[in-house]
Amino acid sequence: MMKEQKNTADARKAAADPVIQMDQVTKTFPWGGSILSRRRTAKVLDRVSFAISKGEVLCLVGESGCGKTTTGKLVAGLLNPTEGRVLFHGADIWKMDPQKFKAYRRAVQLIQQDPYASLNPAHSIFDTLKAPLVRHGIVRTQEEALSRAKELLQTVDLTPPDDFLFKYPHQLSGGQRQRVSIARALTVNPEFIVADEAVSMIDVSIRLSIIALLSRLKNELGVTFLFITHDLAMARYFAWEGRIAVMYLGSIVEIGTTARLIQEPLHPYTKALLLAIPEADPEITRHKQTLPVRSLDIPSLLDLPSGCKFHPRCLFFIEGKCDVEVPQLTPREDGRLVACHLRSA
Ligand code: SF4
Repeated sequence: MMKEQKNTADARKAAADPVIQMDQVTKTFPWGGSILSRRRTAKVLDRVSFAISKGEVLCLVGESGCGKTTTGKLVAGLLNPTEGRVLFHGADIWKMDPQKFKAYRRAVQLIQQDPYASLNPAHSIFDTLKAPLVRHGIVRTQEEALSRAKELLQTVDLTPPDDFLFKYPHQLSGGQRQRVSIARALTVNPEFIVADEAVSMIDVSIRLSIIALLSRLKNELGVTFLFITHDLAMARYFAWEGRIAVMYLGSIVEIGTTARLIQEPLHPYTKALLLAIPEADPEITRHKQTLPVRSLDIPSLLDLPSGCKFHPRCLFFIEGKCDVEVPQLTPREDGRLVACHLRSA
């Protein structure tokens, strides 16, 4: 009983002190502009808010181009918001002094989709791991760097480490390169990892082993995750004990615990994504509806639909309401938030 009370108190404390918080973040980018066409603005993110507590996994799910990668870059401090704030332990990262900003950038690491593009082909694996260790003063000598690099390779299951240390990225498989990317992120003992489509460019056969590695890091090192994926099945697998946020055209349309969201999706877009997941049984998959939407065309970010941005595709579209009023993220009894007029009635 005492232990349960302590766990509840710890959970409340963690929720009250999120590691990362997006507070009404909007991000726009200039688009085009020439003698023949005027410069326009693409609103890639529209008032996005969420908070991630220590040790938690939040999966951000949505189709390509919905703003997931931009969100990851904002959380990692690689982009600044047009409006709103990104907070690290309650402090606005863009108002931090240089020393605090450096500490934040060290605490929040990004693992990118393409391990080949993110590793310098001219650097050996040892050089790749040594650079951040030296830059952040974690090691002082070549021996210390070698020893720590070997430990890191063992942590990501590249063993024996001597077989990998002096190889170059092109000598490794896709899965091995992604393990090196993960090892590099771990060089600075991060508190938070943004994994942006971290397994989507890897052979299906080894995806699960990389996911198992990330799960182990979460459990053993207590790392907090923002896991970005277009694959709801992968989100379900990685974040079963965490939460999923579903993003559509730069807005979060549903956010809640993975189990509830998967068992009973409330937003029509979440339902469509879930129905599109292939089943293990090819017979069931063959007879499954493809994406159950009115239109397969995704609207342009330069010309977003009025009202609910999903209304041109939604099977439950209410004329005169959904195309006029923007639905707000509204709390439900089970704690999740949903932005749909059907659910706020
Ligand atoms: Fe569909 Fe209307 Fe809900 Fe948008 S607000 S998801 S159009 S029912």
